[in-house]
Amino acid sequence: MHKAPILVVGGGPAGASAAATIAEAGLPVLLIEQRDQLGGAIHRQPAAGQESHVWRPARHRRNWAGLMARLQASAGRIETRTQTVFLGVDGEGHFLFDDRRAGRVFARRPRGAIIAVGAVETIRPFPGWELPGVMTAGGAQVLLKETGRPPEGPILVAGSGPLLPALAAQLAKAGNPPVAVLERGRPWRAPEALARLAVSWAPMAEAAAYAAALAIGRVPYRCGGVVTRAEPDGEGLKVGIRVGETQQVLRVRHLLIHDGIEPNRTGIPLPAPDAAVSILLAGDGREALGADAALLDGRRAAMQVLARLGLAGTDASRDEHSLQRARGFQAALARALHSEPIAPAPETVICRCEGRSYADLAALPDDASPREVRLMGRFGLGACQGRFCGPMIAALRGRPLPAATPPRWPLRPVSVAALARLTNDETE
Ligand SMILES: Cc1cc2nc3c(=O)[nH]c(=O)nc-3n(C[C@H](O)[C@H](O)[C@H](O)COP(=O)(O)OP(=O)(O)OC[C@H]3O[C@@H](n4cnc5c(N)ncnc54)[C@H](O)[C@@H]3O)c2cc1C
Repeated sequence: MHKAPILVVGGGPAGASAAATIAEAGLPVLLIEQRDQLGGAIHRQPAAGQESHVWRPARHRRNWAGLMARLQASAGRIETRTQTVFLGVDGEGHFLFDDRRAGRVFARRPRGAIIAVGAVETIRPFPGWELPGVMTAGGAQVLLKETGRPPEGPILVAGSGPLLPALAAQLAKAGNPPVAVLERGRPWRAPEALARLAVSWAPMAEAAAYAAALAIGRVPYRCGGVVTRAEPDGEGLKVGIRVGETQQVLRVRHLLIHDGIEPNRTGIPLPAPDAAVSILLAGDGREALGADAALLDGRRAAMQVLARLGLAGTDASRDEHSLQRARGFQAALARALHSEPIAPAPETVICRCEGRSYADLAALPDDASPREVRLMGRFGLGACQGRFCGPMIAALRGRPLPAATPPRWPLRPVSVAALARLTNDETE
């Protein structure tokens, strides 16, 4: 009997759903998660010793509880390793992990792999976005979920997308409603997209719950509003905003920004026909379609793995149909909230790692290739390898900034001591 497990990287809805499906089919699974608990972005659990009662819609809570029960029922076939970071894979299919609990790196060669590492947030830069006190909305939501406590002092939430009202509602329910939510999109300009969204009852019910929480917390939700600049102001920030033609300055302690999410691909090995171990992507890391779709996509990837091993049929039409619906919903949302990118002020920092500004980017020849942007402009060469500035540059230039090729592993910093204790934990 083949003892090598199917590897699943990522303990969010997609990874948990993939792991449960494979284990239910009788195969051993190695489930790797970098945090100390499963949950992913949406079901992030309180930090050890903390209590958190951050409000989440009942539908999501039910979905997660169901998934946890399935994992529990198949626990004998699932080796779950938390606080363990996937670092990379070599040409022979040995996957490398940093076990941060034990302080050692180990290698495993699985029978197949599903990588479900979720999405990363994007922002549109403005002068001052890099200051202390400015944080991504997702980062703030993680802190809220882990500690149960909202940040203290006045908060402004700005950018675009459904995370803004979700976070603002959670902050309001946790006792510190933001002073305002600024959504840059103007949805009333896209009535056809709004009509499409209106027939998606589950997300609409969720949106209505957020709207009610904002109304009760008296949080204004202003469309067509953008942050133009942030400056230090004592212990807080002076934030310039523009709503339509009206300019205003707000004094806040925290500015939480977010302009959407993208699949987390920096350094992630992609499926390739000649790979020593077959790899599939799943969930938001494959296509950012939201939490419900991530569950389906995890199962879809698991069924593909099982089908390749001759253990299941290949009929994925039910999941494909639901994924197509989720795609339609996301496309309508993107049309409803669409706004053209505008060039930021010249002094705007674009690359935090190397301190490169928009003026430095604009000084490059118009026809500079993505490689020249990296090598001549020094964009994407810093510690984050373009993880954060890459999507900004792509949006500003209308062309992608390719990731470093081949990816520079390890994906995350790892201590020399842990590397020196490298072991090969084969079970085959
Ligand atoms: C910041 C943020 C906030 C969001 N908030 C909401 C919300 O409030 N409501 C909502 O409906 N949707 C929200 N979403 C969208 C929703 O979370 C996703 O659609 C859904 O969680 C995707 O599931 P997933 O399993 O694909 O990815 P995720 O849930 O992101 O799970 C990926 C998992 O992979 C792990 N991981 C990543 N890299 C590694 C590595 N190298 N080694 C080991 N483990 C790794 C991560 O720790 C994470 O647990 C949010 C998304 C983001 C990015």
